[in-house]
Amino acid sequence: MRTRPFGPLDRSLPVIGLGTWQLERDDRAAAIAAIHRGVELGMTHVDTAEMYGSGHVEELLGEALAGRRDQVFLASKVLPEHGSRAGVIAACEASLRRLRTDHLDLYLLHWRGEHPLADTVAGFEALVAAGKIAAWGVSNFAADDLDELRAVADAGRITCNQVLYHLGERTIEHAVIPWCERHGVAVVAYSPLGAGDFPSPRSAGGRALAEVAAAYGATAYQVALAFLVRTPAVFAIPKAARRAHVEDDAGAGELELSAADVARLDAAFPRGRWRGLPTL
Ligand code: NAP
Repeated sequence: MRTRPFGPLDRSLPVIGLGTWQLERDDRAAAIAAIHRGVELGMTHVDTAEMYGSGHVEELLGEALAGRRDQVFLASKVLPEHGSRAGVIAACEASLRRLRTDHLDLYLLHWRGEHPLADTVAGFEALVAAGKIAAWGVSNFAADDLDELRAVADAGRITCNQVLYHLGERTIEHAVIPWCERHGVAVVAYSPLGAGDFPSPRSAGGRALAEVAAAYGATAYQVALAFLVRTPAVFAIPKAARRAHVEDDAGAGELELSAADVARLDAAFPRGRWRGLPTL
């Protein structure tokens, strides 16, 4: 598994991590076994949120990570309605209880809400000072939101922006990735496999993917992930509740596409025009 520095952190993370949205709907024992396999394969960036299964996914992770907490970089997210200074602190403490841990490695604002960003940042910084989180970031922020955030955060404090990014949805390439590159902020690609809407092998894009994959002895899913993490600032967190899927996704962390193959996929899955930041 390739690793690289994660935004301003003095720490490298795997290019491919583990997402957990809707994991409460899967077979629990199989999902826990899949997480264990992913961690074993180096997918140690584990992403969750208080929202997922209304806390049930954090509880499932608490069970899955018992005895393994030190092996992972654990990220969770606070809902925007909990974005006041006191709300962020209370929500984090509830997440910590469900996750059966005393600290998060990363805590994100899930999306922008009504609370002033300065209040949310004050909550994050109080949690850092108390040792309850090591770092904080945001999710679903467009470049102008990031500008506003930067005005209320000290330099080097914004760790990442987690945003929608897959072959069929490349809007963040216009402004969000360049902003993050300029400011040393990591980009975390969510729904990197299209959240269940993966290109059909019968489509033109699907055929291009299959041909590139065949040249590397890889799968189309691995090529799709490798395309996203071709950019050094970008990390991906596919969700997989099955061992075979986790193993396949981990393999993408070893795959580096040639410039010619990147150009081929770029043509098959055009970036399109800027139409505002998409969310799921
Ligand atoms: P995704 O990772 O794009 O796709 C997940 C789907 O792909 C699952 O059905 C999974 O199946 C399947 N899959 C995974 N690997 C596969 C493989 N190698 N071959 C075939 N199928 C494969 O979708 P996502 O869950 O929306 O996004 C990933 C993570 O990003 C989430 O879990 C969450 O942590 C995060 N996220 C964040 C936000 C946000 O607003 N910040 C929004 C959405 C998602 P199985 O599960 O059956 O294995």
